[in-house]
Amino acid sequence: MNQSGAVPPDARARNRLRIGVLASQGDFAAHAEMLRSLGADPVEVRTPGELGRLDGLVIPGGESTTITKAIERDGLEASIRAHADSGRPILGTCAGMIVCDRNHLGLVDATTERNAFGRQIASFEVELEIEGVGLDPLRAVFIRAPRIADYGDDVEVLASVDGHPVAVRQGRIVLCAFHPELTDDSRIHALLMALATAARGERDEEASVEGHHDA
Ligand code: GLN
Repeated sequence: MNQSGAVPPDARARNRLRIGVLASQGDFAAHAEMLRSLGADPVEVRTPGELGRLDGLVIPGGESTTITKAIERDGLEASIRAHADSGRPILGTCAGMIVCDRNHLGLVDATTERNAFGRQIASFEVELEIEGVGLDPLRAVFIRAPRIADYGDDVEVLASVDGHPVAVRQGRIVLCAFHPELTDDSRIHALLMALATAARGERDEEASVEGHHDA
C-alpha cells in the first residue's frame, strides 16, 4: 500500500492470480470468462512455455481423446506434471476429468468411466451438494459425462450422483464430471482460486526462507 492507502494499479495486476486454461480443444473460453469475472487473469495455454508461471490450471471439457492427443502433440505433459508437482492446483472438468485419471496423465489415483450415464440420458442437470463449497446445492450440468469408477485412499469424494462420485479431490487437484463454467454459479472456480492462493502463499514463504538463508 502507498501512503494514501490505495493499492497502485500495477501492483494489483501483478498480484492477480494467473489461471491457465488448456485451450487445445473444448469450451475453454467460458472458463476464461468465469475466471475473469472472479478477478483472475485467465491465460489460454497451448504451449509448454505458457504453463511456466501459472498459479492454477483448468483442463476443460470437450473430447478426452482429442485433448489427450493434443497434449502429446504439443509436448505439454511434462509441463502439466511439473505444474502439479510444484503444488499448483488443477481443475479438470468432464473430458478434463478423464485426462487426469490413472489411464491418462495419472495425476489423480482414480479411474474414470467415459459416457457413464448412458445414451438416453446423455445430458442432464441436477442440484448437487458439493463438499467444501457451501451447503446450498449447485446446479450441475452434465453433458455425455464421465464418472469415477474406482479410486484410491488419497482421493476425497466431494459429490456423487446415484452413489457414483462425480466430483473428487486429491490434494490440490479437483475433478468434476459436470460443466461448472455453464451456469452463473462460480463456486468451483472460486475453490480453484482458493487453492491457487494457498499454493502461491506457500511458494512466497519458501522464497522468503531461501532469501534469509542467502543473506
Ligand atoms: N464424452 C466426452 C469424452 O468422453 C466428454 C464430454 C464433455 O467433456 N462434455 O471425452
